[in-house]
Amino acid sequence: MAPEPPAAPSAVRVALVFPDLLGTYGDSGNAVILAQRLRWRGRAAEIVEINAGGAVPDSCDLYVIGGGEDQPQSLAARELNIQRSLHRAVDRGAAVLAVCAGLQILGRTFVGPDGIEQPGLDLLDCVTVRGRGRRAVGELVVEPAANSGLPVMTGYENHGGVTILSPGAQPLGRVRTGVGNGQDGDALGEASSLADGAVNGRVWGTYMHGPVLARNPTFADLLLGLVTGPLSPLDDQESEALRSERLQAAPGEASRGARRWAPPPGVARWVRSRHRVR
Ligand code: GLN
Repeated sequence: MAPEPPAAPSAVRVALVFPDLLGTYGDSGNAVILAQRLRWRGRAAEIVEINAGGAVPDSCDLYVIGGGEDQPQSLAARELNIQRSLHRAVDRGAAVLAVCAGLQILGRTFVGPDGIEQPGLDLLDCVTVRGRGRRAVGELVVEPAANSGLPVMTGYENHGGVTILSPGAQPLGRVRTGVGNGQDGDALGEASSLADGAVNGRVWGTYMHGPVLARNPTFADLLLGLVTGPLSPLDDQESEALRSERLQAAPGEASRGARRWAPPPGVARWVRSRHRVR
């Protein structure tokens, strides 16, 4: 009898948590990017979409939570604290990507729509308060911590909250353009610098919309690698072109870009042909 072929690795399950409440600026696309980058590598992937009112399973490998307005954000946090399935999943070793309102929800507390402090999920050691200045709106460029292996990242931010990190959370990186966590979010040691995001183990939060994983595929692979182990490289010419374009769009980055962000010749040719730049 012929030997049984080796069992194919089971599908990686990506939970898209409450996209109807938390899905501004295409954040739900992060789940699509994760699944597609696995499929391009011949791996099976499944997106498990849970809308408001649905039960979030605790058995998925990766959880994606997007941004949203204050009211739906408050509802989502309440629901996730009642269900506690995300807590169980994290205890089991699942990875989480949370963007903006998602990041705020994962912290210890944030300010609800009525201006009153509300409990978060306590999965990240941070609190979010109301910023005193204007909303942070615009391109956000983040230089990740050196040990992350991530390149400079590009995103888009729009939030009123300021996130303050405690020692149990590391920032994702230093803000080069934009606001990120805001005034009190500095945890990289430089009093004048701003930080973005919060990381604790496999739980990652950031203020970067975009969707952040479309703009920064290395970040997608980092998250996937947490649940699959090492992954083969992909041809990322197109997304590198998008990254370069977005980085150049950030105020103050264009001049820096000429020095540091000139795309490789193949990518530059591709961008020119696409935009008919001569
Ligand atoms: N409602 C939150 C704030 O304004 C988050 C906004 C968002 O997710 N874009 O701070």
